[in-house]
Amino acid sequence: MDFLIDIPTLKNITYIISSVLFITGIKMLGKESTAVKGNFLSAVAMFIAVGITCIGLINPLVLFSGIFLGAIIGTFIALKVKMTSIPEMVALFNGFGGLATFLIAWSEFNNGPDSLFQAALVMLTLAIGGITFTGSLIAYGKLSEKINIAKTSIITKIFTTIFYISLAFLLYSIFITPFLLPNFEFFIVLLILVLLGGIGFVLPIGGGDMPVVISLLNSFSGIAAAFAGLLLFNNVLIVAGSLVGASGLILTVIMAKAMNRSISNILFVGYASSSSSSSSSEEQGEINPISVSDAYLILENASSVLIVPGYGMAVAQAQHTVRELGELLEENGTEVKYGIHPVAGRMPGHMNVLLAEANVSYDVLAEPDDVNPTMDVVDVAVVIGANDVVNPSATDEPGSPIYGMPIIEVHNARTVFVLKRSMSSGFAGVQNPLFFKSNTRMLFGDAKESISGLVSEFKD
Ligand code: NDP
Repeated sequence: MDFLIDIPTLKNITYIISSVLFITGIKMLGKESTAVKGNFLSAVAMFIAVGITCIGLINPLVLFSGIFLGAIIGTFIALKVKMTSIPEMVALFNGFGGLATFLIAWSEFNNGPDSLFQAALVMLTLAIGGITFTGSLIAYGKLSEKINIAKTSIITKIFTTIFYISLAFLLYSIFITPFLLPNFEFFIVLLILVLLGGIGFVLPIGGGDMPVVISLLNSFSGIAAAFAGLLLFNNVLIVAGSLVGASGLILTVIMAKAMNRSISNILFVGYASSSSSSSSSEEQGEINPISVSDAYLILENASSVLIVPGYGMAVAQAQHTVRELGELLEENGTEVKYGIHPVAGRMPGHMNVLLAEANVSYDVLAEPDDVNPTMDVVDVAVVIGANDVVNPSATDEPGSPIYGMPIIEVHNARTVFVLKRSMSSGFAGVQNPLFFKSNTRMLFGDAKESISGLVSEFKD
């Protein structure tokens, strides 16, 4: 029996449908009310794309086994992972995306590239995929605080040098391709160099600059996938890879802007170059602790409150209790806003995700530029598990590793409550002079417990 259309045409039509669904799904992610549907739509698009790819293959069993195994491992990890470990998981996802394209490039090399263009593409895909893979593993280690190697250490310097050598070797390999197709030995040298180079790419970056490198790795995984799509002549892979690559690049630019740094400065100068700060870990005077009941009395009389969440809110899983406190304050006649710093937490949009999960309306979320000019009329700024993003050293202390990063200037509010468990520093590892200011009160304890205490006081 003859089909009306042949399988390649059917595949391409289905790929177009999947691509439209991807784009619609991503668009829907932009609004809290449609985000869940958008996510589902994109997952359906991926399912359709993978399904149609399997049709007509000589040995679909191998592919189905891979999909089945991957789905089981993915489901298991997603169910098991703690909310606070999602950023690390995202880093690993980027890494495995890179590994997949790295393996595709390797296999295409083994098949023998049939044109000079394809040979150059194999080199590029291998390099971006390899750097993304090992770079993301290091990013995972840094986010989970399992890796803590200083930029100035000899290990970092060795790997950084290898990174630059791998870039030079990649350029050389692409340059010579038109004259001489790379042989196996040459290919293996490139392969080893890019894997080690990925380590050297991320190792010197840290502190406040990690968000930029995470979104850049995300973008790399997309670009590598798009190149792999070109290698395999797979249209949907080209579209999906380009979407991830482009959106990751936009995010990288936004994150770099949020840090007030250029991308090249972050990548090639590194965070620790200015870390000669003298006061980074020293005590800076007296602190003023406050109890939950005293904090309540001040909040009860406040006419405007700015809530500034940070990574600690994610650790404490306090977002629902925070929303409850916000509602109680509003019922009490207080104007409540949330100050959201773009790099608060451990992944881009971390605070937005948590607050959306707790049904906090997007309308009350404001960026640093919106809240800073009117900070002096805020009665109480409630800092919930945030540290680096409210650290005045970023504006006042030229020697500080976070100097130049825009912050939410809560120190200019009339009163500041800082909710955290101890005096320990944040991700960038620097002490925070905010804690020692005369208008700051430290409310020590787990953020969820402290906020629950305040909620109970309001209810009583
Ligand atoms: P920080 O990491 O600066 O500070 C978090 C604070 O939360 C800590 O000081 C900690 O103090 C406190 N904390 C932890 N657990 C709890 C808890 N259960 N209850 C109350 N407090 C708690 O967070 P910020 O959000 O201010 O800044 C984010 C940092 O992470 C920036 O340096 C940013 O560059 C970096 N980063 C951001 C990424 C992103 O994409 N957003 C990615 C990678 C890094 P204590 O232990 O005393 O309680």
